[in-house]
Amino acid sequence: MKIHEYQAKELFKAYNVPVPDGNVAFSVDEAKKTAANLGNFPVVVKAQIHAGGRGKGGGVKLAASMEEVETLAREILGMTLVTHQTGPEGRLVKKLLIEAGQKIKKELYLSLLVDRTTASIVIMASQDGGMDIEEVAAKTPERIIKVYVDPLMGIQGYQLRQVGFALELPSSAMKPFSALLSNLYRFFIANDCSMVEINPLILTLDDKVLALDAKVDFDSNALYRHKDLMALRDLDEEDPLEIEASKYNLNYINLDGNVGNIVNGAGLAMATMDIIKNAGATPANFMDVGGGATSEQVENAFRIILADDKVKAVLINIFGGILRCDIFAQGVVDAAKKTNINIPVVVRMEGTNVEKGKKILSNAGLNLTTAVDLFDAAQKIAAAVN
Ligand code: ADP
Ligand code: MG
Repeated sequence: MKIHEYQAKELFKAYNVPVPDGNVAFSVDEAKKTAANLGNFPVVVKAQIHAGGRGKGGGVKLAASMEEVETLAREILGMTLVTHQTGPEGRLVKKLLIEAGQKIKKELYLSLLVDRTTASIVIMASQDGGMDIEEVAAKTPERIIKVYVDPLMGIQGYQLRQVGFALELPSSAMKPFSALLSNLYRFFIANDCSMVEINPLILTLDDKVLALDAKVDFDSNALYRHKDLMALRDLDEEDPLEIEASKYNLNYINLDGNVGNIVNGAGLAMATMDIIKNAGATPANFMDVGGGATSEQVENAFRIILADDKVKAVLINIFGGILRCDIFAQGVVDAAKKTNINIPVVVRMEGTNVEKGKKILSNAGLNLTTAVDLFDAAQKIAAAVN
């Protein structure tokens, strides 16, 4: 689950990770009020959306006076901000962060990520932070250092210094930086983050270190133990069909192809997307109805997939293990009757009680195509959409 920069900065403050003074604003009036409270110019007007690259897209601007705060707030609130992370459709800006402008000596990069390969938390840092970090990663990856922290040991003093030295911080900033990184690590672990990125982390003209930007992603599987964090979820930033699917515990991700999928198990869902691609079609979604899908689950899955008008055909790929094929087939029949399906549906089913399941499907009088195996299913679904 992602949160906004202003929310991340509030959390940082509670962990003594220094950030500029500032406040969220939902209107031009609120923006002016916050600017007045800050007392000094310039202030920075920052669009709050769940995507990076706002600066380059025109969503982060410096205001030198109250008149400029008003003009910029009016301009940015309500704009559709397009960045390299939003896709061409962009994102509607509904809130701003009004923040004290900083005198920047140097923009650095700092992030923490879960690294599954080494089962550690990796700290990434670079002296070349700021808006072109993607280019640094592509052209001069040696300018980004990585330090691996064993989560059982926790972050060690020498690792804090290792990162500080790599950033070539002035000696007076070393201790504050170590404290910042150690606090950030504490924040990361305590809140089950999957990613925290500060780009830029700045060194100010008077050699203070400060998080100027803040991107935080929480591990959604751990949110059940962070009720307070769940309140930070912003449904405006999420796909409406994905929100609907999450109400029924369906693992659903909207993609841009035209073949809808209903599959049980994440591994099989991945394999299904691959065979669809191989057959020359493209998946419209990833949908895992889970190991023990009920007919209600199947019905909801159908409803959500059919609500997506780019879907031209649906492939159902089920392996009956915990879920028995006859139960599933009944679910499909019930769902089909209720949802009025007017596009081709291909079913591939294998596993426990498969014969019973097939009988239920063929006796239902529905317009379903059955497939004998994965390859056959892929060919049939591709033929249906192409
Ligand atoms: P994004 O990464 O989405 O482009 P940032 O928050 O990193 O947004 O802002 C983009 C750039 O704007 C920063 O690299 C920095 O140069 C400048 N900036 C952002 N906040 C401030 C601030 N409070 N004071 C001065 N400059 C800022
Ligand atoms: Mg940034």
